[in-house]
Amino acid sequence: MAFKELVFSGVQPTGNLHLGNYLGAITRFVALQERYDCIYCVVDMHAITVWQDPAELPQATREVTAAYIASGIDPKRHIVFNQSQVPEHAELAWIFNCVARLGWLNRMTQFKEKAGKDRENVSVGLYAYPTLMAADILVYRATHVPVGDDQKQHLELSRDIAQKFNNDFATSIAAHGFGEAFFPQPEPLIQGPATRLMSLRDGTKKMSKSDASDYSRINMTDDADTIAQKIRKAKTDPEPLPSEEKGLATRPEADNLVGIYAALAGISKAEVLKEHGGAQFSTFKAALIDLLVAKIGPVGAEMQRLIKDPAHIDAVLADGAQRARVLAAKTMKAVKDIVGFVSR
Ligand code: ATP
Ligand code: MG
Repeated sequence: MAFKELVFSGVQPTGNLHLGNYLGAITRFVALQERYDCIYCVVDMHAITVWQDPAELPQATREVTAAYIASGIDPKRHIVFNQSQVPEHAELAWIFNCVARLGWLNRMTQFKEKAGKDRENVSVGLYAYPTLMAADILVYRATHVPVGDDQKQHLELSRDIAQKFNNDFATSIAAHGFGEAFFPQPEPLIQGPATRLMSLRDGTKKMSKSDASDYSRINMTDDADTIAQKIRKAKTDPEPLPSEEKGLATRPEADNLVGIYAALAGISKAEVLKEHGGAQFSTFKAALIDLLVAKIGPVGAEMQRLIKDPAHIDAVLADGAQRARVLAAKTMKAVKDIVGFVSR
């Protein structure tokens, strides 16, 4: 069965939006607007799977929204909203909790990483995170999901949930006139040169909002001096840059900085090395700082400007939520019929 093509993705309002979110996710969201109808969510219900200060969560939600708009997402042509304003996400997530198997969730590496050694003490929500993510996508029956590399496993789980729902309820799906499958198999779009930016302090760890060290990441709202300081302090090795890409294979920090440069300049790593191969890190870092300030500076400044008008941002979110809810309610009505819940 052919499903209408639709893009869905989200970013958590968990703190400082960073260069990895921007290059790995948000710039991809922007690019997809030309080809598809898109729904971009600020996933505040995911954020509270780890503690969020209620005094700061609204600001963080507005900051992600501002980043979407400042990066070039058009909330009039597409849909931008925060997850908690559309309760159907949580409603469908419950049904998916009853479709997904414990064994599937036990394999999720993000849970293992985020829970760490204190597994008995983390929230049930952190464990169930992937079933809510499946609901986010499938409540719109979305077909394409642009994400960074770290979300690949969760997308595979979403596909498994869609498939199991379609199989378990096949007779009822057909009886209600939805043919052979109610949910599509959402396809991950993990694209571009920066699907996994690494921490500036440790080239083997993902750059993350939740990393305790601010020096591990470039935040979208960092000013020029802060960017310069963080890049100068970024971990490197003592060798000059190689002239060919294979020379980066065993040098994760060098590989990361070259990758960031390539993504920002819109060229390949090989092209970066053609120009900068043989250079000392001090020279390369200076060029990278200039490029970062030129590319990130204007987006950060526009974000700051937008954040000064919270009423405008809240109106964008309310409008998006209203339009999203029409779509989500339609899916939930059908899901309730398929599952066998009595409703009006
Ligand atoms: P947290 O640490 O709270 O999980 P995060 O930095 O991982 O925050 P998310 O809101 O979980 O950010 O992810 C938003 C999007 O950014 C997702 O599509 C994710 O795959 C992508 N993303 C996150 N970190 C990176 C990274 N280091 N490089 C590329 N993409 C990333
Ligand atoms: Mg994350």
